[in-house]
Amino acid sequence: MALFSKKSKYIRINPNRSRLDQHNSTPEVPNELFAKCPSCKHTIYTKDLGQEKVCPFCGYNFRISAHERLAIVADAESFTELFTGLETTDPLQFPGYSEKLAAAKAKTGLDEAVLTGVATIAGQKTALAIMDANFIMASMGMIVGEKLTQLFEYATAERLPIVIFTASGGARMQEGIMSLMQMAKISAAVKRHSTAGLLYLTVLTDPTTGGVTASFAMLGDIILAEPQTLVGFAGRRVIEQTVRENLPDDFQKAEFLQAHGFIDKIVKRTELSATIGQILRLHRPEARGGQQDV
Ligand SMILES: [Zn+2]
Repeated sequence: MALFSKKSKYIRINPNRSRLDQHNSTPEVPNELFAKCPSCKHTIYTKDLGQEKVCPFCGYNFRISAHERLAIVADAESFTELFTGLETTDPLQFPGYSEKLAAAKAKTGLDEAVLTGVATIAGQKTALAIMDANFIMASMGMIVGEKLTQLFEYATAERLPIVIFTASGGARMQEGIMSLMQMAKISAAVKRHSTAGLLYLTVLTDPTTGGVTASFAMLGDIILAEPQTLVGFAGRRVIEQTVRENLPDDFQKAEFLQAHGFIDKIVKRTELSATIGQILRLHRPEARGGQQDV
């Protein structure tokens, strides 16, 4: 179906154009009607992907936005967003950064690369954070770090578990060393939450790399992942050049990491909500006899 791979041929039909305008122009197929699976290359009618956006042929998980993720994981209308309205100071005055931020905000409807708040999942109340790879590749800058740190502090004070859906290209280079400092800052908040005897669950989604992998993504008490998720620190090519060895094909895939003990369970997207709900239910303070692991 080469017809659908030539993306430039398709232009979204503007519903505001008059019918006459539409008749006068070349017939076009709105590109949101079809999607091509990057894994099995099938062309799929997007309605067949379902709300979960899973390929019906091979099970590939399409990348989804934070709000799409929220809709399939949290109970309907249970989410309250917290820690909004924070603005980066742009410490390096990096050329073009403020324009890039403004474009990402307009594109995603988010104020930063992570959505934070509280919700219930399968009836269990939890603090929740969802990273969105559509926002500057969910890179971790000062505001991502601040929002997550505040979420951990809130959860510690309210005695709530935390569920984080990670996705990231790594540190935000436009904020230089300030972005690297977020690794230590969030990790310290994770430790205080843990010392209070509270559960921290991470769900690694495609792609989880760089400083996010090297800090809070791998600090979960329980670490889940979606199938075929890319998880790593440095890129594959950098590692191959450094160690001068060819790496296995499935290197840095969730299945490889599970086999080597880094991931507890790989869960299909369609089963995530029920699985997380069950884990939260099992770890309720009442279920543990009210004991704290101090
Ligand atoms: Zn597929």
